[in-house]
Amino acid sequence: MDGGHVAAPTFSFELFPPRDAAAEAALVSETLPALVAAGPEFISVTYGASGSTRGVSLDVLRRLLATPVKPMAHLTCVGSSYAEAARLIREFLDAGVTSFLALRGDPPAGITEDDAFLGDLGSAGELVQLIHRVQKERMPFRQIDVPGVPGAKRLASGEKVTIAVAAFPNGHPRSRSRAQDLDTLLAKEAAGANLAITQLFFEPDDYLGFVDDARAAGVTMRILPGIMPVLSVPRLRRILELTSEREPSALLRELEASGDPASVGIDHAARLGRALLDGGAPGLHLYTFNRHEAPLAVLDRAGLLPQPA
Ligand code: FAD
Repeated sequence: MDGGHVAAPTFSFELFPPRDAAAEAALVSETLPALVAAGPEFISVTYGASGSTRGVSLDVLRRLLATPVKPMAHLTCVGSSYAEAARLIREFLDAGVTSFLALRGDPPAGITEDDAFLGDLGSAGELVQLIHRVQKERMPFRQIDVPGVPGAKRLASGEKVTIAVAAFPNGHPRSRSRAQDLDTLLAKEAAGANLAITQLFFEPDDYLGFVDDARAAGVTMRILPGIMPVLSVPRLRRILELTSEREPSALLRELEASGDPASVGIDHAARLGRALLDGGAPGLHLYTFNRHEAPLAVLDRAGLLPQPA
C-alpha cells in the first residue's frame, strides 16, 4: 500500500479501542473477523485523547497484525514532548505497525489552544516528519512472524509505508477560510504525508468540491472520503457535537420520520458512497463504530464488495 493512485476503488475501516471487556469480546469474536474477511485495504484504530487508549489501541493493532489486513495506527501529539512522541512511534513500530494516521489532536477538556503547553509538536505535519525520521532510524524493518497465519508477514525491508493525515471538506472547526484548510492540507503533504482521510460529511459535493479545490491548490496525495452510516437520531446528534459538522436537515427529517432509522442511515450512506465513487473518489473509508453489519451493507449496496458467483 502506498499513497499513489490505484486503479480499482479501495475500501477501508476505522475502529476505536473497546471501552470494556464486553465490547472487546464483541470486537474480537464478531466485528474484526467480519471486517477482515471483507478484504479492506487497511483498518485504522483511533487513539484516545492525550494517549488515554495507548495500550488498548496497541492490543487491537496487534490483533490486526495477526491477519492479512494492514493495520493503521492513529497517533496524536498534543501535549507530548518531542522525546515522548518519538518513544511512542518507536513502540508502535517495534510492535510491527508501519502505517500511521498522524494527528495533532485536540487539547484536553478545559484547556484552550492559547493557555497551556500543548506539546513540542505544533501540528500534524511535524508529527508526520517525526514518524519519517524514526522510521528511517528503524529501517530496514524486521520481519514479524505470526504463528499459524500464512501471509501475515508483510514487513518486507524497504516497504513503502503509509503516513496518512486528516482533511476537513467542510472546514476544521477553527478554520476561518477554505484557503486555510487547503494550506493546512498542503503543508501536511509537504511534510511527507501520502494519504488524506476526511472528516465525515453528508453530501457528495462537500467532498467533490473540496477535492477539486485541493487539486487546484497542488495537493496530489489520495484523499479518501470518510463516511458513516448514521443509524439513529441520537447517534447523529452525538456525531454533530463531536465534529461540529453542519446538521444534515433532510437526513435528520428522514431518520425522525422512519420506523426503521437504521435502514434509512444505511441507504443514505450507500447512495453517498456510490455518488462519491462515480464522482472519482479513489475509495471509501467507513467509520464503523465497531460494528460490521451496517458498514458492510453500505459497501455491498455501493457495489464495492465482490458479488457471490
Ligand atoms: P492539524 O491540522 O495539525 O491542526 C492543529 C491545530 O491547528 C488544530 O487542532 C486546530 O486548532 C488548528 N487548525 C487545524 N486546521 C485549521 C484550519 N484549517 N484553520 C485554523 N486552524 C486550524 N482525534 C483523536 O484524538 N484521536 C483520533 O484517533 C482521531 N482520529 C481522527 C481521524 C480523522 C480521519 C479525523 C478527520 C480526525 C480525527 N481526530 C482524532 C480529530 C483531530 O485530532 C482533530 O480534528 C484536531 O482538531 C485536528 O487534528 P489535525 O491532525 O487535523 O491537526
